[in-house]
Amino acid sequence: MPAERIPPLAEQLPVGIALLRPDGGLIDLNAHGCRMLGYTREESRQLNCLTLVHPDERAGSRAHLAALAAGESDACTLDRRLLCKDGRYLWVSMALTPLADASGTIGKLACTLQDIDARKLAEERLRRILREMPIATAVVNWNGTLAHRSEKFEALFGYSHEEVPSMQDWLPLAYPDPAYRQVIAAQIAEVVASAQREGRVAGPLLARVRCRDGSDKMIEFHYVDLVQQGVWTMADVSGRHLLEAAMRAANEHLMARLGEIHQLQEQLREQAIRDPLTGLYNRRYLDETLTRELARAQREGGPLSLILIDIDRFKQINDTHGHPAGDEVLRTLAGLLREGARLEDIPCRYGGEEFLLVLPGMDLPAARQRAEDWRERFAGQPVVGEGFALDATLSAGIAVFPAHGQDSAALIEAADRALYAAKRLGRNRCETATSPSPTDPAAPAS
Ligand code: GH3
Ligand code: MG
Ligand code: MG
Repeated sequence: MPAERIPPLAEQLPVGIALLRPDGGLIDLNAHGCRMLGYTREESRQLNCLTLVHPDERAGSRAHLAALAAGESDACTLDRRLLCKDGRYLWVSMALTPLADASGTIGKLACTLQDIDARKLAEERLRRILREMPIATAVVNWNGTLAHRSEKFEALFGYSHEEVPSMQDWLPLAYPDPAYRQVIAAQIAEVVASAQREGRVAGPLLARVRCRDGSDKMIEFHYVDLVQQGVWTMADVSGRHLLEAAMRAANEHLMARLGEIHQLQEQLREQAIRDPLTGLYNRRYLDETLTRELARAQREGGPLSLILIDIDRFKQINDTHGHPAGDEVLRTLAGLLREGARLEDIPCRYGGEEFLLVLPGMDLPAARQRAEDWRERFAGQPVVGEGFALDATLSAGIAVFPAHGQDSAALIEAADRALYAAKRLGRNRCETATSPSPTDPAAPAS
């Protein structure tokens, strides 16, 4: 019987084509197939495909052939190393199809052979590079199956290849919380799309991954698209993440403390310049600011008025109604002064029941008017407290810069003299300083 040959059409195709017996024996191999493996046509017909297959892959291949011959499977594609005439192995993708005769018996198999040596070489090179990478890597096929994961992947997460053959298996293990998983899945899709669009490394994607031992790790993922496959790199940044969180917390704590300290300083400053009973500025603050305000008035040539107020017969109020009632009188007057003051005015408690108002930019007639208003309001409003209601009055002395003095001491003295005059003239009244103090060196001669 003449040897069966491959039909002429198949003979001319630029792909290796073989006819096999179910036991793997080669019935015929086309010219392209012969060139691929280096055998002559005659030699090829003496060969058995299974003996050409690399010993490591032989057993599996035999089982596949048997299944095809038995009609248990329609077709299959096997990537196998085949022995060439020159002794080296060539990676070949073999697509096998059973051929049945008229009676339905499968007497032979058709097989196409495609040289995938270059692809396998590239894959092997990629694998070696990934193995040598200092971080964990995984190669994912377009359909989600894991083509390769480095040993560091298993070291990092603890999952074996059998446990996570694909992304579909990985996701529920790595992200057990469904809501979080959904978020991460969306981010993965975004990173992959961006890598494919831009043709460069995409990421980082930061995710909390559940490991096999139940612990969680913060992982930084990057992705490179290789058209049919993609490579994920994974770096454990848990330590950095913890450190960053700790530093953030420490920073927030520090900021809070600084805020407290700032507030405390403000409080202390307020305490240092305020009189605790009335809340008005104290004498210390007055000394500081009056000098400054006078310097400014001098520079700008504007007036500055002082009103020195003293409560009338205050000792008597204390003696009659008690010290707490006296305190209430002081607070009431302080409240009136505060209400009637402009933003730039400086109302101070000058001494026991004496108050001094520094009124920058205010001339004498305005200051007189202001003093009169305060006097009237104070006199017209009884001071009411627990178990007492009393009427109190005040006397005031008014002095103005520059007419009544050049410095704070001279001006205060002028105001004090005017106050003394008010007392002498019957109290519950306001008097203006009449002339500069004779002790004031800046006083005019007249
Ligand atoms: P004049 O009309 O002449 O000013 O008579 P006066 O009684 O007000 O004068 P004097 O200066 O003798 O009295 C001031 C009193 O103010 C004496 C002091 O006991 C009282 N005093 C000082 N500081 C306070 C305080 O914080 N609270 C109370 N309740 N009394 C105070
Ligand atoms: Mg007094
Ligand atoms: Mg008094």
